[in-house]
Amino acid sequence: SAKVIDGKAEAERLRGAVAEEVARLKADHGFVPGLAVVLVGEDPASKVYVSSKAKQTVEVGMTSYEHKLPADTPEADVLALVERLNQDPGVDGILVQLPLPKHIDSTKVLETIAPDKDVDGFHVVNVGKLSTGQWSLVPCTPYGSMMLLRSTLGKLSGLEAVVVGRSNIVGKPMAQLLLKANCTVTVAHSRTKDLPAVCRRADIVVAAVGIPELVKGDWIKPGATVIDVGINRVPAPEKGEGKTKLVGDVDYASAAKVAGAITPVPGGVGPMTIATLLGNTLIAACRRRGLTPPTYFAQIDKDLFG
Ligand code: NAD
Repeated sequence: SAKVIDGKAEAERLRGAVAEEVARLKADHGFVPGLAVVLVGEDPASKVYVSSKAKQTVEVGMTSYEHKLPADTPEADVLALVERLNQDPGVDGILVQLPLPKHIDSTKVLETIAPDKDVDGFHVVNVGKLSTGQWSLVPCTPYGSMMLLRSTLGKLSGLEAVVVGRSNIVGKPMAQLLLKANCTVTVAHSRTKDLPAVCRRADIVVAAVGIPELVKGDWIKPGATVIDVGINRVPAPEKGEGKTKLVGDVDYASAAKVAGAITPVPGGVGPMTIATLLGNTLIAACRRRGLTPPTYFAQIDKDLFG
């Protein structure tokens, strides 16, 4: 059965490397990178994400700025806060937690973030740079997924990759990164005909759909690597009445019998997302000051895309 890809351990290594670089920057250049996270409203999942982001930011030695605004905050106030953070020299990375309340235009908010502080990599400038092969800040979840592929497979050149899902935050940037790593890339989505057959071609399957356990074991080519980005909370009556559990977009039990390697949920892609966010903040902090980004990340990029 498949090798289980340990995202928790990989994320811990990455955070260790970030912490070392943060200490070095402080000693050699006298500054501490800062990450500002903006949360509007009371979405319970978002609150959990934001507090673990803040906690891990501090753990690697960076400064965390948390801005929690009430759900009815006018759009203009959110935009004004982002503008202030853009100007604040202590802030190297800005992350606005999505989803935003319905009365706020999230595109407008994301496009207000200064591209060189856009550690989520969602600004059109960064999206455009990634897709034209220029250096950019890269969305955290796809970047983390690429790092797991690198540690599992080494070079990805020439491999057949199928990404299921075409969202701006996961599917599309994931496809761009796989292309940059010289894979042959197919992006499948809700209108794809015969999704099982498309997936069966793949050496690498990335599932980012948001449907619990959609991708089955008999969709997987024997030996393929499966990256499950999905995080879905579902009822778990076996654990007791009213209990729930997290599952991915891949039917783990059947896929693990066929795949060569697979990420579990939880403990796969999830932990990588915050670790790469911290990495992006570090990289942004260096680049904004004209310093060479840390060798650790340069090496990862060279292995993946060089
Ligand atoms: P989304 O809803 O924005 O996009 C889903 C995509 O799946 C769409 O492009 C759609 O075309 C496609 N799709 C929908 N139904 C389909 C079907 N039946 N067959 C094939 N494709 C179909 O979702 P998203 O934001 O990209 O997130 C996807 C999943 O990843 C969710 O479970 C989300 O919770 C998870 N996620 C995890 C992390 C992480 O840190 N691990 C980060 C972001 C998102």
